Amino acid sequence: MSGRRFLSIGECMVELSQAGDGLLRKGFAGDTFNTAWYARACLSADWSVDYFTALGDDAMSDEMVAFAEKAGIGTSLIRRIRGKTPGLYMINLKDGERSFSYWRDNSAARSLAADPDSLREAVESADVVYFSGITLAILPQEDATTLLAEIRRAKAAGKLVVFDPNIRPRLWSSYDVMHATISEGARSSVLVMPSFDDEAAHFGDDSIEATIHRYKALGAVNIVVKNGADGVRLNFGGEESFVPAEKVKKVVDTTSAGDSFNGAFLSRYLETGDAPTAARFAAAVAARVVSEHGALVVKEKLGLGG
Ligand code: ADP
Repeated sequence: MSGRRFLSIGECMVELSQAGDGLLRKGFAGDTFNTAWYARACLSADWSVDYFTALGDDAMSDEMVAFAEKAGIGTSLIRRIRGKTPGLYMINLKDGERSFSYWRDNSAARSLAADPDSLREAVESADVVYFSGITLAILPQEDATTLLAEIRRAKAAGKLVVFDPNIRPRLWSSYDVMHATISEGARSSVLVMPSFDDEAAHFGDDSIEATIHRYKALGAVNIVVKNGADGVRLNFGGEESFVPAEKVKKVVDTTSAGDSFNGAFLSRYLETGDAPTAARFAAAVAARVVSEHGALVVKEKLGLGG
């Protein structure tokens, strides 16, 4: 097949959510995996969507692979490590407020860049490479350096490299390391897709313009700043535009709003080359996602038409 490949790199975890009566429901999710899910749902069959991570050799890792395959996400590049397991998180609900508990310190995904050959093979096989600040945050510092070097090679080779800073201070050893590594992630990318609330809180940006300016100064050519219900601001090669969010009757669960926006945006952008058109499509998809429970909304409920 002469198709093109979208590669997403990061950590997918086992998700446990409340199913009533003290029962827990098992699922699979993680920022870069969610974006791969929506990219797969929205891209044409000319594209393959692959996930790159590391998993263990246990039953949960097997189930995760089967889950991805069933969604049409390729898993052949995933490295399996003997004796390791995937990370896990639980969604707790108390008085309607959600909180999260994580067990990921020892997850297989932390070793995703520990084998440079498999990483290089995966990146070289792709036309589009997607990763996030969470991908960088979970890696030992020397492995983050390895991944960023590979990402820079991909950019130099003319691939579309896309980065969502997805800033999670708790995953980082210090603010300095977080600021430096996220800035390096952006510097190594072509398109950066930050969420303004994170950037304001953790980089001190006092406006969306300040976020755009900071990432431009680092060398990102194209930027999409997401701002929840207030829409997105685009700067593509210096050309600015604004696309509003869609009105949502009842916001049910905002988990994965940004991840779904990114996957849907990229699918349209890759097929049309037009960023505002892609953002309007992504706003419609994200509006459906926040109207449903869970990170991964099935294709039939995304209103893709056809
Ligand atoms: P993140 O989840 O990364 O914080 P945002 O909250 O900015 O990202 O949301 C990403 C996109 O999801 C927005 O650009 C918008 O299209 C959509 N979205 C998020 N919240 C809402 C909302 N309350 N109403 C309509 N659309 C929303």
